[in-house]
Amino acid sequence: MTSDRRVPVAIIGGGFSGTILAAQLARRGIRSLLIDGSGRMGRGVAYSTSEPAHLLNVRAEGMSAWSGEPDHFARRFEGEGGDKRGFAQRRQFGQYLGDILDEAVLSGNTEVLHHSAVGATRSGDSWRIELDSGEQVEASALALAVGNQEPEPLSAFGSAGPRFIRNPWGSDARAAVEELVEGGGTALLVGTGLTMVDLVLSLEAAGHRGKIIALSRRGLIPRSHADFDAAPVERQELPEGDLLGLWSWLRRRCGEVGWRAAIDSLRPYTQALWQSLDGEGQRRFLRHARPWWDVHRHRIAPEVGRMLAQLIGEGRLEILAGRIISARDTGEAMEVGYRRRGAGQLQSVEVAYAFNCTGPLHSIARTRDPLLRSLFDSGQIRPDHLGIGLAVDDRSRAAERAWALGPLTKGQFWEIIAVPDIREQAAAVADDIEQELGR
Ligand SMILES: Cc1cc2nc3c(=O)[nH]c(=O)nc-3n(C[C@H](O)[C@H](O)[C@H](O)COP(=O)(O)OP(=O)(O)OC[C@H]3O[C@@H](n4cnc5c(N)ncnc54)[C@H](O)[C@@H]3O)c2cc1C
Repeated sequence: MTSDRRVPVAIIGGGFSGTILAAQLARRGIRSLLIDGSGRMGRGVAYSTSEPAHLLNVRAEGMSAWSGEPDHFARRFEGEGGDKRGFAQRRQFGQYLGDILDEAVLSGNTEVLHHSAVGATRSGDSWRIELDSGEQVEASALALAVGNQEPEPLSAFGSAGPRFIRNPWGSDARAAVEELVEGGGTALLVGTGLTMVDLVLSLEAAGHRGKIIALSRRGLIPRSHADFDAAPVERQELPEGDLLGLWSWLRRRCGEVGWRAAIDSLRPYTQALWQSLDGEGQRRFLRHARPWWDVHRHRIAPEVGRMLAQLIGEGRLEILAGRIISARDTGEAMEVGYRRRGAGQLQSVEVAYAFNCTGPLHSIARTRDPLLRSLFDSGQIRPDHLGIGLAVDDRSRAAERAWALGPLTKGQFWEIIAVPDIREQAAAVADDIEQELGR
């Protein structure tokens, strides 16, 4: 079968990872086709929100899209009246990314295609990509930047009906928020991480005045940013390859210099420390340490933290540690049974809607993305050793002339889900593609 187009590089996914890779390639004079049919081209899941209350969780000075140009976003934010130590709205960052994409398109090196990829096959010395339109694209190199996968279905809500919102980023979630505002009912958020925070902000901004209950196994919520004196460390001071040793180092250091300074001092070495652990050490980290790590490492803007504290103080937001046991649609509402952590008896609560805020899918093999499915099924790519992303090498290569970027590569790099890390990866992948195609 002949292809409808031929391009040097096909990039699947137009979120931050795909967009900045396209822009990096354009700067090198390499043509690419950026493919994304979600309607979020150039912004992705995180930066397509139109909600002003959704703030970045990294200070503007840390959010440059370009490796080697640390002030690129901060300068623009200051020009708009912001403070580089402050937290911009996520939609402002989305506009910034959109402008970067427009510039790449204007250079003549980047084209965008508003379709989803449903399959890809290595054929001869190129990749043949199938689109949902039935079109085919042939590319010398393939970059997978499809981001986090939709959350795991929750078994307790298996027959809960439409009052359970499976994807907190979808249109069902927006409709449910509107109904909650009108009806004033209770919202149950399953999960207490950054997705929960977003939903609380959306509900508040929309004018919901009912109660919000947020529940997770441990009931830990993200901590806030605050100023602190940095306490850098040298890599030789850190116990490598030893999870328990690292953990006790971190606890001691938190006591000495404060937890923010202690955690941030690890930033330059987190990828190397992760890679120094063996598979069992990494699995133990994911099982036992991750919830604590996540809420301290991925912090929220102070103003968001204050708002959560106020809602908790007023009794409008309740954070529970426990486990959902059952959920039943009663017609008028949903009855949810849960057991608090450490408590024996079953409790129940009536809610108008429940939202799955448990965060991205953990086990990549369970993805419903047709492209990843087809690549797994044909054995052309495989899950990493932990099953949380794709198996890639230290140059982010997932197969011959195929690269993966962003959260898809967290098994290999761990610290690769936020802008400061992905921008470095995108620059390195662009260099590698340039070398490979030049061969
Ligand atoms: C709510 C939220 C807030 C965040 N806030 C910050 C922050 O303040 N600072 C920070 O540094 N990081 C933040 N992050 C983390 C980080 O910026 C993102 O995880 C990062 O943008 C990942 O980008 P991505 O392009 O890899 O994935 P995504 O943004 O998920 O983009 C992937 C794109 O690929 C598309 N796609 C998927 N499958 C296909 C297919 N088969 N064919 C075509 N297209 C496909 C999707 O539709 C999507 O548009 C946040 C993340 C989230 C979710």
